[in-house]
Amino acid sequence: MKLPENFPALPDFPSGEVWLAGAGPGDPRLLTMLALHAVSNADTIVHDALVDPRVLELADKGAERIFAGKRGGRPSPQQRDINTILIDRARAGRRVLRLKGGDPFVFGRGWDEAAALTEAGIRFRIIPGITSGLAAAALAGIPATSRDTNHAVILAAGHRAQDGKSAADWEALAKVGQPIILYMPMAQLADITAALARGGMASDTPAAIIQGASTAEERVVESSLANLADDAHREGVGAPAIVVIGKIAGLRQGLLSSMVGWQ
Ligand code: SAH
Repeated sequence: MKLPENFPALPDFPSGEVWLAGAGPGDPRLLTMLALHAVSNADTIVHDALVDPRVLELADKGAERIFAGKRGGRPSPQQRDINTILIDRARAGRRVLRLKGGDPFVFGRGWDEAAALTEAGIRFRIIPGITSGLAAAALAGIPATSRDTNHAVILAAGHRAQDGKSAADWEALAKVGQPIILYMPMAQLADITAALARGGMASDTPAAIIQGASTAEERVVESSLANLADDAHREGVGAPAIVVIGKIAGLRQGLLSSMVGWQ
């Protein structure tokens, strides 16, 4: 790929700076150019479990890699500890890349880290990534919007807040009448779909589950609001997965005869 002369220069990665970047949904070809540049130039990479190994393989062999995510049911590191790692490494003069799945500012605690860096007086840069909710839908042939179905789309987190209270008012969201793209959907799927139905969403509303979007494990399970939780269970859907609920989920069938597979 040859870039034109007036193509914007990729910035220097100064030592002592932290770059908070999104790695996209998985496939390394979905990295932004800035994220690729960051991965190739960082000397410390602090990454989540959702950052695809194929992305990490692009890093310099000598780069320090620090895993900061959930693994094998063990408790995830405290946000405070991650902040401390970022700040300490930056103060030690390293080029620190904080790499998160998808986009760092979509259900990724990216803002918290940026705020901690700000408080510590550490310079940082934000590099957006392709968020998995939109990528998973698109790769499955589901548009986030289409003119005939919706003029808005809700991105919502399905997991409960740590205090045990549900994070979103699902009945109220159902009343908005717009499609919902659910991140971290699996643990509470039965409760969420029941609440959406109580809120007035039709039981035959199309739904789709997209697991492992843009990875070798990618698969799509089509369902409906009423059957979503049972279908997910029966099909053994596991994380990471995105659930799309709304008329947009039914639009993929019209594309499948011509849509070229991703892999
Ligand atoms: N910041 C991330 C979201 C982090 S929350 C982003 O913008 O995408 C983690 C959730 O993201 C997972 O529980 C899952 O719902 C979703 N996710 C991440 N990667 C995914 C993938 N490749 N396929 C499907 N869902 C994915």
